[in-house]
Amino acid sequence: MKKDILSLTLQELEVEISSLGEQKFRAKQIFDWLHVKKVGCFSEMSNLSEQFRQKLTNTFCVKPLIIQKKLVSRHDNTVKYLYRLFDDEKIETVLMQYRHANSLCISTQVGCRMNCSFCASGENGLVRNLEPSEMLMQLYETERNSGLQVGSMVLMGIGEPLDNFENVLKFLQILSDKSGRNMSLRHVSLSTCGLADKIDELAKLKLGLTLSVSLHAANDEVRSRILPVNRSYNISRLLASCKNYFDKTGRRVSFEYALIKCLNDDLQSADDLIRLIKPLHAHVNLIPVNSTGKSEIFSPVSTTTKLFHERLTQGGINATVRRTLGADINAACGQLRGAEVEGLSGD
Ligand code: SAH
Repeated sequence: MKKDILSLTLQELEVEISSLGEQKFRAKQIFDWLHVKKVGCFSEMSNLSEQFRQKLTNTFCVKPLIIQKKLVSRHDNTVKYLYRLFDDEKIETVLMQYRHANSLCISTQVGCRMNCSFCASGENGLVRNLEPSEMLMQLYETERNSGLQVGSMVLMGIGEPLDNFENVLKFLQILSDKSGRNMSLRHVSLSTCGLADKIDELAKLKLGLTLSVSLHAANDEVRSRILPVNRSYNISRLLASCKNYFDKTGRRVSFEYALIKCLNDDLQSADDLIRLIKPLHAHVNLIPVNSTGKSEIFSPVSTTTKLFHERLTQGGINATVRRTLGADINAACGQLRGAEVEGLSGD
């Protein structure tokens, strides 16, 4: 089987190129074609000899990412791509255009095994992990298709990034390589439902990433009900890892809190949340939950959201209510793939 060249770090590519009997500096040229010029075909690599290009074609492949569907929001310029992978599996990528920069939300797995009750991504379990190349291609293909430059990325699409730890780390290494796409990891956020031991491992690496933690509840009883992962790593274990992350990296953790009607949207929950996260000097992102239509989960009325937000702010917590970009195009995690898998959506 041919090797997936886009998943190789520059150092790995150098080893491969040397073993083909070519000089090491050629690896940097190829890396530049792949990650800067975003050329996916060896025959276009014009500074390499014909013979060498043939050798590359025989040894390596660039796995394609095909646009299966592209939806553009009527309310804002949010674009959602449903991409088809080489094995016909589907993933989602969302391009959000803000005044200051464009941000891209990418998937890290096909499906998810975390099974959060309000999230469409985990409804059919985990199919497989994404390779580093498949994460990079979401960026390269979206930039190519939209003609826009992406300034920041969030690992908040389908999947649990810390459940695909090795591939995500390799993706970050390639993405930030100065000889490649050279994206500063300060412009990358990783969102996790709370795999605390992996947060500890990540902290040791001091990558400068922003860590975003999906908290969604201020007590274990409610959190375990909506996030099964809480039964393995409860809130105090999770917050200990968040504190450790801050202490080791100097980067403030931010928390996601999806407001769910009559479950976690009361002022007592707001007070509990204040008490929990105040010592962490963290930011809270409030998200009125996007109803997937499958479970008994609805977002609160806007006045409840406003009151909850005010209570946090009065309690000294830096909080924002997330703008619901792309609500008309099913921009929440896994909704589009879910519909496709079940054959619910037409073109
Ligand atoms: N597995 C990671 C990243 C993917 S989910 C995580 O859990 O953080 C990205 C974010 O979207 C998480 O905060 C998740 O809880 C939230 N989310 C998922 N489905 C949602 C929905 N229907 N409404 C609002 N937020 C949702």
